[in-house]
Amino acid sequence: MLIKDLYKAKKPVRSFEIFPPKKDADEESIVGAIEEIAALQPDFISVTYSAGGSGGSGKTAELAQMIEQKYGIASIAHLTCINAEKSKIDAVLQELKNKGVHNILALRGDLPPGVAKESVVKCPYENASDLLQRIAAEGSFCAGGACYPEGHMDSENLSQDIDFLKFKQDCGAEFLISQLFFDNERFLMFLNKARQAGVEIPISAGIMPIFSRSQIERMIFMCGVSLPAEVVKFVHKYEGNPEDLRKAGLEFAIAQARYLINEGVDGVHIYTMNKPAAARKIFESI
Ligand code: FAD
Repeated sequence: MLIKDLYKAKKPVRSFEIFPPKKDADEESIVGAIEEIAALQPDFISVTYSAGGSGGSGKTAELAQMIEQKYGIASIAHLTCINAEKSKIDAVLQELKNKGVHNILALRGDLPPGVAKESVVKCPYENASDLLQRIAAEGSFCAGGACYPEGHMDSENLSQDIDFLKFKQDCGAEFLISQLFFDNERFLMFLNKARQAGVEIPISAGIMPIFSRSQIERMIFMCGVSLPAEVVKFVHKYEGNPEDLRKAGLEFAIAQARYLINEGVDGVHIYTMNKPAAARKIFESI
């Protein structure tokens, strides 16, 4: 199933993101997690790809194929172009074709920690839009891209970021998935601005449940997202009580998703962190 057809057929589209394990030893646990997540019958599951081909990237195509073939659920294989030779991108596209994976989330990616800019492999695809053009030339994939409701970390400002988003659409993106955010009003404002700028393709809202203070601190510095006072307060309140913090984090994610669905968003995409129990709780509540 092509993702663009899913968005045409229903609203909201409800989906999950999973990531391949870094070590072969963790493979059993991801297979178990996928089984539990697939049982929830989401509209699609996306599988991340480690930038530069490090980590568990080799498993992205394999897991995406398994989700489609074993569970009959649409999958998206993420693909990054940073630090990748053209031949590597060609090979991954061929592998996806061979495995019957038709949907790709085209990304620039970031350099893995510790890799210097000077040592990066020269790739003809500098931005996600370049990769989208390459994928469009194949003629057989449905490709999408990432978007950033509060602007990408490296961007000058949100307007410039949105202009690049419109360019992603011009380069063949057929859907967008947003970075995580905690402030719904900022997302709705972004959506409005993107629509005014001519971005017409469906946009799913990315939601990540909060599990711990360290996770949230890492995320805000990595992604440049703002934290509403409500979140800061419950993280503070339950700091010494991990179980209650997880509960409050899940409740916040559920409330966020419900609100956005009421506002008529095209889709909600849950960053599961490979935790099926949290995915189930959110899914059943929305
Ligand atoms: P781009 O769209 O190329 O944007 C990067 C920067 O360049 C931005 O500042 C943008 O404003 C600017 N820009 C965009 N287009 C142009 C242009 N045409 N000319 C000049 N400047 C431009 N990372 C992974 O490693 N693996 C994953 O699987 C993964 N999955 C993700 C899924 C989602 C939904 C999201 C939101 C992010 C994901 N990321 C992943 C992280 C992503 O790779 C980083 O955020 C990265 O910094 C930017 O990737 P991008 O595709 O958005 O880049």
